[in-house]
Amino acid sequence: MKQAPIIWTNVLVFSITTLVAAIGVPWYAFTIGFGWAEVIATIICLGYCGMSITAGYHRLWAHKTYDAHPALQWLYAIGGAFALQNSALHWSADHRVHHRHVDHNDKDPYSAGRGFWYSHIGWMLRDNSEVNKTDYNNVRDLQKNPIVMWQHRNYLWLTISTNFGIPLILGVVSGNILGMLLSAGFLRLVLSHHFTFFINSLAHIWGKQPYTDQNSARDNGFLALLTYGEGYHNFHHIFESDYRNGVKWYQFDPTKWFIKTASWLGLTHNLRIVPEERIEQAKAKMQLQRAIANVSKRPNAEQLLQVLEHEYELLLARMQDYYQLKKQLLRQRKEELVAQYQAADFKVRYREFKHHMQIQQQHWQRLVTAFS
Ligand SMILES: [Zn+2]
Ligand SMILES: [Zn+2]
Repeated sequence: MKQAPIIWTNVLVFSITTLVAAIGVPWYAFTIGFGWAEVIATIICLGYCGMSITAGYHRLWAHKTYDAHPALQWLYAIGGAFALQNSALHWSADHRVHHRHVDHNDKDPYSAGRGFWYSHIGWMLRDNSEVNKTDYNNVRDLQKNPIVMWQHRNYLWLTISTNFGIPLILGVVSGNILGMLLSAGFLRLVLSHHFTFFINSLAHIWGKQPYTDQNSARDNGFLALLTYGEGYHNFHHIFESDYRNGVKWYQFDPTKWFIKTASWLGLTHNLRIVPEERIEQAKAKMQLQRAIANVSKRPNAEQLLQVLEHEYELLLARMQDYYQLKKQLLRQRKEELVAQYQAADFKVRYREFKHHMQIQQQHWQRLVTAFS
């Protein structure tokens, strides 16, 4: 089969940034040495790029798992350009196709079925537009978002000015322009790229599948450390409308914590979550499938299968009872709170009305006394 044509701009950008980071950064570290200013600035810039992609591009724009204040959206738009991963509109269009046709080698733009290299970076090096067309039909909602469209129209100068401008300003402030360009510029960009690319490659190859095996996505706690929580990719692919990827409170998902904290400050709203019951059902179903596969090889398989099926049905029934009651309890608590609020409101009004009446009584008494 004829290979798709090479996209030289992408090849050059990836090659030059990788070479500078791989050669220039160690050379500088050994000959001159980086200071704390460069280290701290690089970590902050890396976090800003990463979170703009995970909280902004991914969970806000591609999946609409919450709503965000325009101020936050502007921050994401600038940070996304700084991360050099194309415009949010383009990124989201590709990503929605990835979810819709996951693992379909001819439709998923970064299908893991085509191997590690392809899903990691190879898909961006050749023009596969004959197969993977990025039309913007699946992002019509985002086309109505003025911030997304502004970023899309101004992407080129935004990405150039942030990638050179931010490290340059930091370098001028810290008094070390070359060191800052190498660390907060090149090294930060290369690390940021590959940490995100791991989600398309490794998070579809390496890890566990606790919720579904209908696609190749995996949950991987180690990858979550590098990807601001996106390593819980198995959960994400089955419940993509949930603003969390690490659904358990202890799972490392800084993107989830950031979105939640921002909601307390009024910067994010309508955080969407999948009901716990559906999550537990998916997990139990996967466990049943695995147990059936293991038990089928045993000599007394038929008997064991019966036990499994019976206990599974029982588990589902118990779950249903529990979650129904929990729902009722929550509703009741809400009603009680409303009742408490109303009672408090009544008390305040009662005191107010009493006071008004007493004043009027005094006024009246004075009046009738004057006329008596
Ligand atoms: Zn996604
Ligand atoms: Zn994926």
